[in-house]
Amino acid sequence: MSAAILDGRVFAAEIARELGEHATARQTELGYTPTLAIVVVRDQIGDSASDVYVRQLRRTARQVGLNSRLVELSTRSTPTDVLDAIARLNDEPAVHGIIVQLPLPPHLGRDLLLDAIAPEKDVDGIGATNAGNLFLNLPAKVPATCAAVMELLDRTAVVLDGRRVVIVGASAVVGRPLALMLLRRDATVSVCHIYTQDLPTFTRQADVLIAAAGVPRLIRAEMVQPGAVVIDVGINVLADGRVVGDVDFEPVCSVAGAITPVPGGVGPLTNLMVMRQTLERITA
Ligand code: NAD
Repeated sequence: MSAAILDGRVFAAEIARELGEHATARQTELGYTPTLAIVVVRDQIGDSASDVYVRQLRRTARQVGLNSRLVELSTRSTPTDVLDAIARLNDEPAVHGIIVQLPLPPHLGRDLLLDAIAPEKDVDGIGATNAGNLFLNLPAKVPATCAAVMELLDRTAVVLDGRRVVIVGASAVVGRPLALMLLRRDATVSVCHIYTQDLPTFTRQADVLIAAAGVPRLIRAEMVQPGAVVIDVGINVLADGRVVGDVDFEPVCSVAGAITPVPGGVGPLTNLMVMRQTLERITA
């Protein structure tokens, strides 16, 4: 068997078109173009992964017809400086979305943000209110990567209710929120992590296997149920510069029913999900 390749770039083109139409409609309704604000704490612009990500995010905003604004703070900023900048964006009506580029310098830290961004503008779902709402099954903004995984599954018409889904990775930004989103869709979800014993016993039961551990080629062919849908969230840069996922792609292709490549699977959808959550004003 050779797995169907779930090409994120094809879905991304489709979604970008839909979001473009959505953005035009919102602009007509509001009388202005909504803005996505990106807060970056750094001392110089360079070519770090973070700078590349911010440029991509702004390009995606432009592509769908949203404004974006970079709010730059120095690494000498105090927690109060960062919180003040976020508070100003919270108060600005034309700003519909706020992203704070992570990681923050250690003296600031991610926890600083948990209650800082207004929940309805927290378009990457990092705040405590959105996380709590997701837990409580209430409307919530969710981490963009998780939204991207769900979008891929839905656009591929993967049935989730009653199916066995195994997630490898239990982080607060991917594994855990994704587990809750899949539970909402009536899947039977197992979450594995670094302390899970006998990982293959779990992964082999999966109708849908989601790898989000950040370990190159962790998922080998013998760990996959024949015909399973395999979603690879991992992004790992090898010593020779190649980017690979958490799934041993070629061998797993001969077992799985469908699989996402890396790069070109989940990644292309992620920024678009930020834009979608900027356009949809879910009141958390
Ligand atoms: P993380 O380091 O915060 O969490 C990793 C999780 O995987 C932990 O729960 C850990 O216990 C588990 N894990 C690690 N090694 C394991 C092993 N050998 N067996 C089983 N479980 C193991 O990472 P993260 O931020 O959740 O990111 C995970 C991966 O997803 C990374 O490769 C990251 O680059 C990628 N990522 C991709 C996107 C995207 O848009 N595609 C977005 C965010 C993260």
